[in-house]
Order: sequence, then C-alpha cells, then structure tokens
Amino acid sequence: MGKNIQAIRGMHDLLPEQSALWHFLEDSVRDVLDGYGYRELRTPIIEFTELFKRSIGEVTDIVEKEMYTFEDRNGDSLTLRPEGTAGCVRAGIEHGLFYNQVQRIWYRGPMFRHERPQKGRYRQFNQIGAEVYGLAGPDVDIEIILLTRRFWRQLGLKDLELQINTLGTSEERAVYREQLVRYLTEHKDKLDEDSLRRLESNPLRILDSKNPDLKELIAAAPSLMDYLGEESKAHFEALCQGLDDVGLPYVVNPRLVRGLDYYARTVFEWVTDQLGAQGTVCAGGRYDGLIDQLGGKPTPAIGFAMGVERLVALLEEQRDQLPIKGLDAYMVLMGDAAQRRGLVLAEQLRDQLPQLRMVTHCGGGSFKSQFKKADRSEARIALVLGEDELERGVIGVKPLREEREQCEVALTDLAEFLKTEYLTA
Ligand code: ATP
Ligand code: MG
Repeated sequence: MGKNIQAIRGMHDLLPEQSALWHFLEDSVRDVLDGYGYRELRTPIIEFTELFKRSIGEVTDIVEKEMYTFEDRNGDSLTLRPEGTAGCVRAGIEHGLFYNQVQRIWYRGPMFRHERPQKGRYRQFNQIGAEVYGLAGPDVDIEIILLTRRFWRQLGLKDLELQINTLGTSEERAVYREQLVRYLTEHKDKLDEDSLRRLESNPLRILDSKNPDLKELIAAAPSLMDYLGEESKAHFEALCQGLDDVGLPYVVNPRLVRGLDYYARTVFEWVTDQLGAQGTVCAGGRYDGLIDQLGGKPTPAIGFAMGVERLVALLEEQRDQLPIKGLDAYMVLMGDAAQRRGLVLAEQLRDQLPQLRMVTHCGGGSFKSQFKKADRSEARIALVLGEDELERGVIGVKPLREEREQCEVALTDLAEFLKTEYLTA
C-alpha cells in the first residue's frame, strides 16, 4: 500500500468545524464593504510572472524568493498570485475601469508565498482587500481607514492599534534615501546579510527588518518626516486631523515603510500584540505611481489587505461571544413510518420557515444512538417522531441546551410553534 498523500507544507484545509467562524468573518466584512459602496472584483489566481515583477518590484522579498512560479505547457512563465493589488490594477487597465471614474473595489481569496511556515505565516493564505482608484486623498485615505475600523467593530475585535506614517513622494524619498544610505553605511558592521544586500537595492526596507539586533540602529536612523515637502506635509496633517475628528486613536510610526517607488504618502497598519511576531492583521497604503508603471493612465490609488487567518486566530479567542448560529433542530425518527413521514414533514417545515436550520436523521438506528447524534450536532432542540407520536398527530420537542420544559406539539401547529418559541428569539 502506498504512503498517504498529505497537504503541501504551509497549506491548510479549512475543516467544517471552523467554517462557521470564517463565514462570520467574511459576511461581516462584506456587509461593511457593501455599506461603503465598495464592489467586488474577482481576478484569476494565476497571472503572468511579469505582472508581479513589474508591480511588486524585483528587489522585494516576494519577487526575490517567495513566488510560486512555473512554466505552463505553452512555455509561458506564470505565477500563483502572492497578493491582490497587481491583479486588480491589471484588470482595471484591461477593462478601462480607470478612465475618468472613481472605483471603490474589494477582492478576496487565497494568496501564495513560499515563506517559512510558522504561526500566522503560511504558504497559502487568504486576504480580503480593498482599493480605491481615482482619488488623491487625504479624504479617501481617512475613509478607507474608517472602513477598516468598522470591520473590527463589526467583528467585536478590540485592542487593535492603528499605526500610520507617510512616505512622501518618490522625489522626497530619493533625497531621504541618500541620507539613510549614508547613515547605514557608517554602521555597516552592524548590518545583517539581508540588510547589506538591501543597502544597495532597497535601503528603505531595512527599516522594516524583523531582526531584533538591528532595532537600536533603526531607531536612531534619520526620519523621512524631516524630508517632506509642503504638499506631503499638508496631506499627512489632513489625515491626522481627519482621524482626530472621528476620535480614532493612532500612533505615528516613522519606521512603517514600503520599499517601492510607486508608493506615495499614506501608509498604515493595524497591529495586535496577541499573535506573537505575526502581529499585523491589516496593511495598506497609497500607491499613486503603480497604474502608470503598469502602462495605464496615471491614476491615484490607495488600498489595503487583511490577513484572514490572523483575524480568525483573534476571533477564536472569543468564539463563545460571537453571534454564530448553529443548528436549530435535529429530527429524530423512530421506525419506518416515522422515517417516511419525517422527510415529508421536514420539507413542509422548510417551506414555511426558510430560516430554519435542521438536520433530518437518516440511516435509522436506536433511539439512544439517534439522540446521541442530535446532541453532538449542537442543535438547540430535538424533534422526536415515533410510531406513538405519529398515531396521535404530535411531535416531541426536547430542548438540548437550555433549561426548558420538554413538550408535545400538534403536527399542524409545529411551524407556528417553532417560529414563536425558537426562531424569533
Ligand atoms: P510581513 O511583514 O508579516 O511579512 P507583508 O508586508 O509581507 O507582511 P503584506 O504583503 O502587506 O504583508 O500583506 C498584508 C497582510 O496579509 C499582512 O499584514 C498579513 O496579515 C497577511 N499576510 C501576509 N503574508 C502572509 C502569510 N504568509 N501568511 C498569512 N498571512 C499573511
Ligand atoms: Mg512578507
């Protein structure tokens, strides 16, 4: 016999007992996005490799070492998407979505990165993200941050911290970059291998290093804030003002960076201290230069992406408090006649009560074994139909989770009874 085949390392199954939590998260997030007028855009999960090289950039972790790239049967180089923005921009250009119009869009789905798997870091993971095209902000920067705050409210997540920063324009960054390289070169002996490599190619990314040994060096580095021009300063001040206006607290973190030329001004992250090292659950920023860089007409843009697995991990901590609805009823059916009648009755109930969540027992078995299944299903009540009940035209109603009286209800009154007693509470 062959060895059992297992899932690929860093890629996980979503098991049935977990799916309700995921649905709660996805539905809540979608409601918020709907409420702000964002519409979904679905793109393929595979794109030409060139798209990611040109958008994410050759000298990033993602493109340098994390992409799942392969040749297809035509000899084209294709890549499993490592993030969602590139595909959105590609689709937007291809379908003319950026011509003289504002687009508020969102996307969701699996992303793929060949990283070292650990808690909160997987090789296939899920993101939900949103992007706004055609608005230069800062009003829309504020909107998109408020939108993310409403996610946390809707999900009941507290204790997330908003960090913001500004990256200025690419001209301002060029001046800053020189100063940063000068400073880091003076301390070259303290840099690690990764940082030494980036010193040439992408020095701003060094500020984002996760190596604790570099912490002090990075803290004392020159700050981009001191190199901003008037417009960038005004943009950032308006952003801060807007967040103050709505009473949303934030921390200005001058080390919050994205290392790519097309980023502009606003960047933000939502972080938690409850997930260890992988504490960023949502990361976003303005990327005014990207559409142009990919061959579209210059279009201002801002967006963010959330790590769904990390949010699910946070929700798991408070699973008991979540409004996750389980089964209402499990119908226990004793004997052939009851089994036949039960399937008919169940269909009638479903017609009358579209919100009803019920499992009808199949497969026969003793009363005891059926009851065990009812209990394990976590339904609120068992509906019991046996020969005796059938004869009298009633059904037994037995609460399984609450201290409530067991009773019998006439079959003709059952729908009304379930509606008032169990479905409207
Ligand atoms: P990190 O610094 O943690 O590597 P990143 O800068 O690579 O994050 P982004 O590309 O900005 O992350 O992705 C947005 C969000 O997606 C992250 O904040 C995180 O919540 C989630 N995410 C990114 N990579 C992974 C992964 N490998 N596994 C699970 N979630 C991830
Ligand atoms: Mg990463």
